[in-house]
Amino acid sequence: MIEYPEARRLVLAAAKPLPVELIPLAEAPGRTLARDVKAREDIPPFAKATMDGYAVRAEDTRATAAGSVELTVTEDLPAGRTSRRAVGPGQAVRIMTGAPLPRGADAVVMVEDTEKPGEGGKVKIGRGVRAGDNIGLAGEDVRKGELVLERGSVLGPADIGMLAALGRPRVPVVRRPKLAVISTGDEIVEPGENPARGQIRNSNGWALSALALNAGAEAYYLGIAGDKGSSLRTKIRRAESTDILVLSGGVSVGDYDLVKGELRTLGVRPVFWGVHIKPGKPVFFGLRGRQLVFGLPGNPTSAMVTFFLFVQPAVERMLGRKKIGPPAGRAVLSSDAVLKPGRMHFLRGLLEGEGPVLRANPFPDQRSGVLKSMVRGRVLIVVPADVARLEKGTEVEILFLEGQGPWAS
Ligand code: AMP
Ligand code: MG
Repeated sequence: MIEYPEARRLVLAAAKPLPVELIPLAEAPGRTLARDVKAREDIPPFAKATMDGYAVRAEDTRATAAGSVELTVTEDLPAGRTSRRAVGPGQAVRIMTGAPLPRGADAVVMVEDTEKPGEGGKVKIGRGVRAGDNIGLAGEDVRKGELVLERGSVLGPADIGMLAALGRPRVPVVRRPKLAVISTGDEIVEPGENPARGQIRNSNGWALSALALNAGAEAYYLGIAGDKGSSLRTKIRRAESTDILVLSGGVSVGDYDLVKGELRTLGVRPVFWGVHIKPGKPVFFGLRGRQLVFGLPGNPTSAMVTFFLFVQPAVERMLGRKKIGPPAGRAVLSSDAVLKPGRMHFLRGLLEGEGPVLRANPFPDQRSGVLKSMVRGRVLIVVPADVARLEKGTEVEILFLEGQGPWAS
């Protein structure tokens, strides 16, 4: 039996970053960037109009207080076209949003502040401008050479847009770890089946596969193995080529808890079995070559919490993520909690209230078979092993479940 920080350290030490692959931009959302991305050019690449109107020399519009400025329109510039001529004194170029600012001009007068040119082709300026008004400068968004995206970050919509703007149709990302999930238990049947008396439906296989996807892995659900050596061995062998193998159930001290023994027979070297935490005490971790093997307890909440505490950080480390979870924060307890000291507790908690201070309320039923506490829960409330009682109003450490931030309801 070891403590949580030590167990986490052992898992992270075994998880090594995976190789890089180049993928099309369209497939990049949610993937982890493998290299820093620097701009090879300015964005925008040229100074441009940010309003429809007239490109002018700002000093030519100064006398507008008197309403007397008229400028000769020399050209018409839609977006996508560049001007051949410069704007000279007393001149203006009709320009549309996005068109490059012609030489000589240093501002744009909005079309709303002008009067349509008449016969003479002169535009009347109703309001003066200052140099820089209604134009965007080259490099004003991103400078050539600037570090724009950092390796290890998860690519979100804005990052995808930026990569497109930077001219990167292919993106270097870290290969996703392949993660196999096996449920164990003679009593377990799949959701589409009718459980006979004594049987229950398999929730772990599905919840753990979903957690794996959420964490950024490629999930392979391999079904249910019965509590017999042969059945377990067949399934475990099928997972041989994956980076991570996650089993649920059968890791405790019961007569049919064969998982550890079978894993050992198949060449998995145990790293730890048992961590002083609640839920999740019997969690097993071992290695077969580079493969990480987790035996999670069968109780649905224990399985999910131990995935969250140990498997997810391993996935994140393999992905080379900048931030390795679980994401932590602080909250104020909104009701008393009584605990059995001796193990570090991870209480499933609801988040309550609005405003700058988060309030966490322990779900009333903390038994590890109660999956509803995970459905309703938004955080895990971390309680150190020596604490037997927490008063309402105490500040506590929380871990946000499923990467949820304080904004989640
Ligand atoms: P075990 O860790 O195998 O002793 O299982 C502990 C408890 O979790 C037992 O009540 C099992 O029936 C239950 N359990 C095990 N595996 C699953 C599963 N895949 N889905 C739902 N419950 C499970
Ligand atoms: Mg079992």
